[in-house]
Amino acid sequence: MIVNMEKKFDTIWINGAFTTCEPDHPFIQNGAMAVTNGKIAWIGNMVDLQSTPELLSHHVKDLQGRCVTPGLIDCHTHLIYGGNRAHEFELRLQGASYEEIARANGGIQSTVNATRSLSEEMLFEQSANRLQSLMQSGVTTIEIKSGYGLDWPNELKMLRVAKRLEETFSIKIFKTFLAAHTFPSEYKNNQEKYVDLICEEMIPIVAESSLADAVDVFCEKIAFNITQTERIFKTAKKYGLAIKCHAEQLSNTGSAALAAKYQALSADHLEYASLESIKTMAESYTVAVLLPGAFYYLREKKLPPIELLRQYHVPIAIASDSNPGTSPILSLTLILNMACTLFGLTPIEALHGVTRNAAKALGIEKTHGTLSVGKNADFAVWNVNNPIELIYYIGNNPLYCTSRSQNIVE
Ligand SMILES: [Zn+2]
Repeated sequence: MIVNMEKKFDTIWINGAFTTCEPDHPFIQNGAMAVTNGKIAWIGNMVDLQSTPELLSHHVKDLQGRCVTPGLIDCHTHLIYGGNRAHEFELRLQGASYEEIARANGGIQSTVNATRSLSEEMLFEQSANRLQSLMQSGVTTIEIKSGYGLDWPNELKMLRVAKRLEETFSIKIFKTFLAAHTFPSEYKNNQEKYVDLICEEMIPIVAESSLADAVDVFCEKIAFNITQTERIFKTAKKYGLAIKCHAEQLSNTGSAALAAKYQALSADHLEYASLESIKTMAESYTVAVLLPGAFYYLREKKLPPIELLRQYHVPIAIASDSNPGTSPILSLTLILNMACTLFGLTPIEALHGVTRNAAKALGIEKTHGTLSVGKNADFAVWNVNNPIELIYYIGNNPLYCTSRSQNIVE
């Protein structure tokens, strides 16, 4: 009599080269990974499988030696926007600075105007194209910020588009409320009133309606000052929202230390961060999100303090900062290359920057960012044998497929 042994797994992926991004067992050269109910149920060497893959699992997929990494996490983007800023790119090539363009009503305000003028449908369509490009570079989780509406109807429109993108593409989208991106032209001469609007009206609704997971502030001399930033952080905390900060991209404002003081998930950019800021970030486990795309586009000279971040064990994440003005980049593998060539990260540091540390920057490290038992089965399969090849090539797309656990009922 043939006994029909119950199969343990939904799907098992065999004959793969796994880069787990776990510190204890980072690579499994000839490995297998089993998935059940959208979670990783087993991962290890092929020789350690208890039975044949066919007896263990309903479905068997042969990776034929391909490399598998955790699904890439792009933890800082401004992907939803109207129009583009190609003209500004041209001006900057002629020598105009970021600040000069911002002061001349270019910059963020021009994207605000373009975003406000688009219908929700058009905004969705334009953003969906960009999202699909990033997903084709292995992204399975993405953070998207609002911040090109700067009034309630248009900020809400952006957050609704983010939700619809999440549902349409079955991808996890971490939504960040960034009304404090810049002062809209109607509040240029009454900045405190705009901070009132953010703190007294917008953040309470965002929190109560679960429209976003975090609140972000662009703290800079051309944007929100340190006092205004602190008021917004306090309000976000009061309403139970996580905090992120555009900190010290163009000058040393002390905002990275302030963000860390409020237990921010991350402080992002950091080119001008001081030793004091980095020490405070280390104490509060605030992740440093570095954005080499903006550094490249703005042709910045000042590098973020990579050595200090290493020395104080501040986790380093890397993101595309995909946005129309300073980083119109839609490939996270290209960003990995920039992190190594421009910032001097090692390829493995860069890879951890878009996996385990990017998960920390979104507060989802318990479920995302590494390949280990119990984590979501979010992973990318690549037509390469070694993960360094992902970073080494520019201009090809080595992605074979991705698996996303989003929408699987737990
Ligand atoms: Zn940004």
